[in-house]
Amino acid sequence: MTKLKDYAEVVGEDRIDRLYELSEKLSAKSVLHVNSTAIGGGVAEILNKMVPLMNDLGLDTRWDVMKGGYDFFNVTKKFHNSLQGAPEHITKDMLETYFKYNRINFSEMNFDKDITVIHDPQPAAMVDRSIDTKWLWRCHIDVSESMRYRPHFELIGLRRHIKKSRDSQTKVWHFLKKFVEQYDASIFSMASFARPDLKIPQYMMPPSIDPLGEKNRKLAESEIDKVLDKHGISRDKPIITQVGRFDRFKDPLGVIDAYKIAKNSVDCQLILVGGTAVDDPEGEEVFKEVQKKAAGERDIHLIILPPFSDVEINVFQSVSSVVLQKSLKEGFGLTISEALWKGVPVIGGAIGGIPSQIIDGVTGYLVHSTEGAANRIAYLLRNPDVAKRLGENGHEYVKEKFLLTRHLRDYLLIFHAIEHPNENFIEL
Ligand code: UDP
Repeated sequence: MTKLKDYAEVVGEDRIDRLYELSEKLSAKSVLHVNSTAIGGGVAEILNKMVPLMNDLGLDTRWDVMKGGYDFFNVTKKFHNSLQGAPEHITKDMLETYFKYNRINFSEMNFDKDITVIHDPQPAAMVDRSIDTKWLWRCHIDVSESMRYRPHFELIGLRRHIKKSRDSQTKVWHFLKKFVEQYDASIFSMASFARPDLKIPQYMMPPSIDPLGEKNRKLAESEIDKVLDKHGISRDKPIITQVGRFDRFKDPLGVIDAYKIAKNSVDCQLILVGGTAVDDPEGEEVFKEVQKKAAGERDIHLIILPPFSDVEINVFQSVSSVVLQKSLKEGFGLTISEALWKGVPVIGGAIGGIPSQIIDGVTGYLVHSTEGAANRIAYLLRNPDVAKRLGENGHEYVKEKFLLTRHLRDYLLIFHAIEHPNENFIEL
């Protein structure tokens, strides 16, 4: 099991010592994290790493997962889509289903820690001010005025959808806001995700990756070969990869289109690799659409992996000439930091948390369309020296900004801040 001290080899002893100092000075000594899935997606990925490290720091930390039926996750997926700008029909029954599951989970859980961090909208209504804990709402998705820009609808000219999506977003946000405003503070991944209409403090804390985990460590050639052999992939043509749940917002169909255009000018192969998440019931349907679109394409590898296939994800990212994250909406996109850490340049949609990782022309390229993505793929495949330079920059950038140790420091600083709610200056 990796210990906090082990990270000194990556970030230096000093940064680790600072973490211990910050933690010792906290009065709150216990933390509860609650989210809606133990497996799949970025939140579970982070909590798997963060919880042991918080314990290692001396904070008694537990992670509980709320339970929900298919009806609940159907509703929360619609919430998720609405909040990110897709038109959904939200009914009164759905709001009731959401609230009912939150109350059942609330009655079954033990809120016995000094600080309770509730992740994302699914369990947000569990907040209860009668309990003696500091409540933090950690929102991983972009719930800001997402109506600012909806490239996927505008591109295809569906103005009607823009109005419908604005209506469903407003409805869901106003419903959620009643709960969110009962928290001591909220945390968003980017400053631009802040909500001007929220009357509680809003902190900014980007997510992070674990440089020592199986997904990001340096692999031996024999490990790489074994995984590629297992999936029947050879390295005779350059590889482009997108890793992610089969979610419409990650635009897997657009990835196939971009690949097909790029392949017309540079021969290459595409790996589209994903898995499922308990709280994402739409994945199967989207995967079927992807299968249909990829049918007959010998150089497209569609791969569904079981949970915790970290070495396999590591292999696919490591052997890629280019990684894509062609999302239409993305809270952050851990997969981008994962690829950059491996020195692989990333081409990503210019939305949400992606531009915080892809600095255009420095660590990769930001794109606004399928054709744009295709052009950039072809350009990087034709110019491996440029790809190498962007990848090297990306590695350094992630090292400075998006590793687990920085994330842990941000949590500790926010914990200090909520212990001193009315102070402008905190002596540490
Ligand atoms: N992931 C995985 N297996 C998969 C698909 C994704 O392990 O089949 C991981 C991926 O490597 C990343 C996380 O799940 O660490 C997804 O986080 P991200 O922020 O990219 O997207 P989210 O799913 O949270 O929208």
